Amino acid sequence: MSWLDRRDPFEDHARPLSIPRHPAEKYLAGKVIVLDPGHGGKADVPGYKRGPTGVREAEVNLRVAHLLRRLLEDAGAHVALTRESEVSDAADDRLPDTHRRRAEIANSYPRPDGGTGADLFISLHHNAASKPEANYPSVWFHGEADWSEPALDAALPVGHRLGAELRCSGVGRTGILMSDQQMYASGFAVLRHARVPAFLVEASFFSNPDEEQRLRDAAYNLREAYAIYLGLVEWAYGGRPTQSIPAVTLADGTLTITAKLDDGLPGWWGADRQRTLDSTIAVYVDGRRVFATFDPATKVVTADAPWRSDASPDRSLELRVHHANLYKHHNWPQRYAVRLAADGTATVTPMAGRHAGEDRAGS
Ligand SMILES: [Zn+2]
Repeated sequence: MSWLDRRDPFEDHARPLSIPRHPAEKYLAGKVIVLDPGHGGKADVPGYKRGPTGVREAEVNLRVAHLLRRLLEDAGAHVALTRESEVSDAADDRLPDTHRRRAEIANSYPRPDGGTGADLFISLHHNAASKPEANYPSVWFHGEADWSEPALDAALPVGHRLGAELRCSGVGRTGILMSDQQMYASGFAVLRHARVPAFLVEASFFSNPDEEQRLRDAAYNLREAYAIYLGLVEWAYGGRPTQSIPAVTLADGTLTITAKLDDGLPGWWGADRQRTLDSTIAVYVDGRRVFATFDPATKVVTADAPWRSDASPDRSLELRVHHANLYKHHNWPQRYAVRLAADGTATVTPMAGRHAGEDRAGS
């Protein structure tokens, strides 16, 4: 009990660096993660993204990205960087469409399993503020929280781990998870153009004089990379739920939708128990929630909706399926474009998450 009489200060930057491999990192094996070191290409612009004594955010972001890639690759993940050095064809702040190009690397990534697109796209940044004392981590997602469920599943442990590992003075001053629409009506371009789960990390503030000096140090950059690695290990450990491509039929004026849910977890002890939270199961047709039932034995969700030909005169509709496992990890994909044929059968195609400024079924 006497140990509790003397509590160490939270802000302890002198403690030794310790970067053991987390045994659960094995759940990252096979995951495809695209890292985007923010900025690059404007080293000659005076004062551009620099700390009080001139440390460049672009260089810090790049060092963290290289260190994080190594940690993730050691765990068996497939990792790509949008830039390996100061600039690439995509990642160069002098390009007017650099954010779209950075995101496109994640969107079009050729997966080892034959698919297309990364499991996660993470843009790595450091923050700045007019108040020099500001120094806390934040993780930014696109748009409404409802649009970013799978991204938030990973963003939350990453944000918490950054606070616990970097021990900056401002941890807890505000929330960790921020919508990019708090900054701009259309959000951050690099997230708006992402068609895979994506978030942007502002690990700490290079505008804080003490933090700026720490960010010069590769060992401190590794502390940060390790924090993000630990967050991603925890994310992977909690699984990535998904489902079979929904079957949609139209008969007697009723749409019937069925899909088999997958909680995304391995066959651990207890796998025969409920691992999908019933309260999280939701099916939407053209943005309207419809009645759905779930059979835990077969893991099939069935939803019925009256066919509203006035709402879908072109016989196309947008279907959304949501569910989460007991780790509160959400499914991916969540949206499908449905085209109904004259005979009542349907073509069902996965879509990306929703984005600012898009129409009902656009992407
Ligand atoms: Zn930045």
